[in-house]
Amino acid sequence: MIEKNMYICPMHPDVISERAGKCPKCGGMDLVEKKEEHGISHDMHEVDQPQRAGMYYSCPMDPEVISKKPGNCPKCGMELMPITKEHGGLDHANMEEGFKRRFFVTLPLVFIIVVLAPKIQEWFRFSLTFPGMEIVTFALTSVIVFYSGLPFYQMALGEIKAKKYGMMTLVSLAVLSGYFFSVAATFLFPGENLYWEIATLVLAFLLGHWIEMRAVRGATGALAELARLIPPTAHKIVISGKRKVISDVGTGQLKKGDLILVRPGEKMPIDGVVWEGESAVNESMVTGESVPVEKKKGSEVIGGTINSDGSLTVKVTKTGEETAISQMMELIRQAQESKPDVQKMADQAASWLTFTALTVGIGTFLFWFFGSNQGAIFAGTLAISVIVIACPHALGLAIPTVTTITTALAAKNGILIKDMRALEIARKLNWVVLDKTGTLTEGKFGVSDVATFGKISSVEIINLATALEFHSQHPIAQGIVEEAKKRRMNIQPAKNFKSIPGKGAEGLVDGKKVVVGNQALMEDLRIKNIESRIKGFKQEGKTFIFVAINNRLVGAIGLEDVIRPQSKEAIDAFREMGIKTAMLTGDHETVAKMVAERLGIDTFFAQVLPGDKVSKIKQLQEGGNVVAMVGDGINDAASLTQAHIGIAIGAGTGVAIESAEIVLMKNDPRDVVKAIKLSQKTNIKMVQNLAWAAGYNIITIPMAAGIFYNLGILLRPEWAALLMSASSVIVVFNALLLKKERLD
Ligand code: ADP
Ligand code: MG
Repeated sequence: MIEKNMYICPMHPDVISERAGKCPKCGGMDLVEKKEEHGISHDMHEVDQPQRAGMYYSCPMDPEVISKKPGNCPKCGMELMPITKEHGGLDHANMEEGFKRRFFVTLPLVFIIVVLAPKIQEWFRFSLTFPGMEIVTFALTSVIVFYSGLPFYQMALGEIKAKKYGMMTLVSLAVLSGYFFSVAATFLFPGENLYWEIATLVLAFLLGHWIEMRAVRGATGALAELARLIPPTAHKIVISGKRKVISDVGTGQLKKGDLILVRPGEKMPIDGVVWEGESAVNESMVTGESVPVEKKKGSEVIGGTINSDGSLTVKVTKTGEETAISQMMELIRQAQESKPDVQKMADQAASWLTFTALTVGIGTFLFWFFGSNQGAIFAGTLAISVIVIACPHALGLAIPTVTTITTALAAKNGILIKDMRALEIARKLNWVVLDKTGTLTEGKFGVSDVATFGKISSVEIINLATALEFHSQHPIAQGIVEEAKKRRMNIQPAKNFKSIPGKGAEGLVDGKKVVVGNQALMEDLRIKNIESRIKGFKQEGKTFIFVAINNRLVGAIGLEDVIRPQSKEAIDAFREMGIKTAMLTGDHETVAKMVAERLGIDTFFAQVLPGDKVSKIKQLQEGGNVVAMVGDGINDAASLTQAHIGIAIGAGTGVAIESAEIVLMKNDPRDVVKAIKLSQKTNIKMVQNLAWAAGYNIITIPMAAGIFYNLGILLRPEWAALLMSASSVIVVFNALLLKKERLD
């Protein structure tokens, strides 16, 4: 038998390939070799666990690195750790523990080394010597260097492998060069050693990292918080014979079509529709909307939301990566991967700082060694201080900590930021263009009038229109279909349906060509005097669509949409912020005018075809403006892409979400205002963090190099290490303050 290698994706068992590579479905996952006859080999089961849909890995040092597969951090080379559901975070808790443990193991050793250091004894005027003392300090320091300092070298190796020399390279360089210099001084040539300096340096680093892990633990978590929303088990309803039995199963084992019971007060384990029961559900964790939503038979429910007082039987409709939470996690993951442009600046500053650290460090050594009579120990100590203090660690944390907190804060407010760069420029916006239907208005049309021209009844008009609109997703179409349902009409879908974007639709009903759409579409059919035909109706705020059979106008339907109550507030807020507003719509001039006037919108463009929406945005951009486009529909997708910032409102249409940089979970235009405010606050934090992380070096590097030595000021390596760590901690805490900000 010829053995054939098969590769499958651990996340998508249905993906089977003859070659190794990446999974075409999830893109990132490496396909794994199928080793056994049945399913995936044993070690894969770990990945194939029920909750795997939300399984991510992150780097303990670089919280912004989030990967779907285990491996090494591309930034620092450390092993990625799973983001655990139980702890609600990347195992920073574990890392924190690790550093803490090393710190406490190291502390007593350092104490002994320090007490035995001649220099310390001289300073504190005591004497404690015994034969072989230097060997003892050598041994103890060796333990510290090789056990306590081990994580630092591992990370340094990662940096070196990635050719991204940074903090850990410098730290390792400082510790190891100091150590080997001392070993040489002990065994090869007579001279003083640096044992106690090295020992305290490592201790200071451990302390710094321990504290930092604590802080970073608080700064990560948008993903973890979402993952935690999903309860691990669900009450599955199993029919056995004639009885219904409830059996608790892992959430990951649920399949589409399963019925589950959600008791009052419990969390929805998965996405589905209500099969039985009525209850209010708190969906704030997904939509940001705090008012509970009433659910009854047929209502959609989202995994992770909280059921209030009723008991619900839910039929599972989505599993795994299709669920809303999984998709949100994916969007957030993308967001956290996307880098704001300041990140480049920070990276540049960091590599520049690494270079400075090395040159100034070497320069310092040479200067003091050859230019003074202080000797090698003094020169070496200063050089080490310089290298340590110039570690660009705070710089590395400055931006990512802010972006992680920003994405989390945004998600809490029902705002998903897909691209950090969009948020970065949102504060510079001077035009916001909004789509009318569905964005400023509810997009729920109700039929208010039916006009008939000739020998045809209004029921027939609705019937004809419904036959076509049955095929369409357009809000107007839905309004008409709704009306037909209300009238309990029997719907016969039209044949050869074709949608005419921005105008209407056409199709065949009983062999006759029926066209439904706006005035422009009727004019295309060379029908004249259209407006005069509906003169008798009250026009204000209504959208009229027309029905033609074989190019003859036979009727019209008037529909009304409601302006969202929040729209006015949003427009007012924009004006206060000095942002101009424009409204884009494919709808008729009169409706557009009314809506624009009621809301106080600066300008509006009516009867714009989907393709022309893009050119309107371009026009504004050519005037040197930074333009955001807010829209909801498929017909807005192109303009969302064209705008500097595309904002999809009401996470409904997939196409709009794809094209947008920011996705609003609720249908609330005020969230655009929130996003802009968040942008401003985020930017301030980033600037502060950069300034601090880079700025303190201006004073500390010269100080470490011994410039103020004549004034009696020196920066010892261990103090340099503490200061360096402190600056990182300050940067992280400053970012954490963002958590407390309110956006309204
Ligand atoms: P908007 O920009 O307001 O979202 P569209 O560009 O989708 O609107 O549509 C513009 C106009 O075209 C609508 O106001 C309506 O008159 C007409 N129209 C579009 N699709 C349909 C349809 N399926 N049925 C009837 N009229 C339609
Ligand atoms: Mg729209």
